[in-house]
Amino acid sequence: MAAEYKTLNLNDNLPLTCTRTGTCCHGNQVYINPWELNQLAKTKNCSPKDLRDNYTDFGGIRLVFDGNKNKLNKKSCRFYDNQIGCSIHLGRPLACRLFPIGRKIQNDTIEYIQQGQVFPCISECPSVVELPALKVSDYLIEQQTELYEQAQDLYLDVMQNIADMGFSLLLETPLVESNEFKTINAWRRFAHLSIEELTKFIDYEWIDLITTPEIDKVLPTEFIEQHNDLLQTFAQNKYGQLTSLEETNNASITLIGCALYLAKSIGSNLEDLIDHWVETAIQFGAKEN
Ligand code: SF4
Ligand code: SF4
Repeated sequence: MAAEYKTLNLNDNLPLTCTRTGTCCHGNQVYINPWELNQLAKTKNCSPKDLRDNYTDFGGIRLVFDGNKNKLNKKSCRFYDNQIGCSIHLGRPLACRLFPIGRKIQNDTIEYIQQGQVFPCISECPSVVELPALKVSDYLIEQQTELYEQAQDLYLDVMQNIADMGFSLLLETPLVESNEFKTINAWRRFAHLSIEELTKFIDYEWIDLITTPEIDKVLPTEFIEQHNDLLQTFAQNKYGQLTSLEETNNASITLIGCALYLAKSIGSNLEDLIDHWVETAIQFGAKEN
């Protein structure tokens, strides 16, 4: 079977000059992290909550694609304008800056990749091969991805911090001694949920704090550091005084759900994450049936 993706080198010379037909602004799936949502709101000159409510799905982590159809019968992103193309070009998220390249983060290594063995633009924009080829490194500079990549990396840490709280509630409380397996079973079930089901599982107050925190900072380093503090404080206030195993079990499951929700916003593979987390928890004494 052909590999699902191909790893790229920064020196690879690829057909990265866009035909500007807006093809990939139709029928696509674009996930955004909370800092990107904030950038989009600034570009649109609206509040983050208005941006979330009017342009995104699943509480603020995916752009809505319900605009006019193109000739391939695919609906456009709600930010797409037939006359000018992307109406928020300056604030567009990392996934749009990188496309057709992807960025894969696994075990602290970062790879630039292309989906499939055939260059993604070629099937729907074949004339792309007639335009000048570009090195991957030059393309990243041209697309000004640096701050956006930094935001993705920082949110990876925030996501792990939330997951760590879920781990602590399972492994550093009487829950782990109780030989119960409901907690790990519930973590495992998350891997099989659609993003729609996962979003429904998480309390709205968590979704609100994850996607639209009230933070008045611009740089990802400052914004995301403050966001991390807000999330940690909220969790501490909510789960710092748990008195029963059932409450502890529910809190651990909720925190792992929140971590996965944030992971989805930065493009992580949830099944791989859950496998890794369950395996780690079992090594430290948790039970699964
Ligand atoms: S598919 Fe590729 S060439 Fe076509 S519009 Fe998108 S980025 Fe440009
Ligand atoms: S945000 Fe802009 S570039 Fe990205 S899919 Fe929407 S219209 Fe296209």
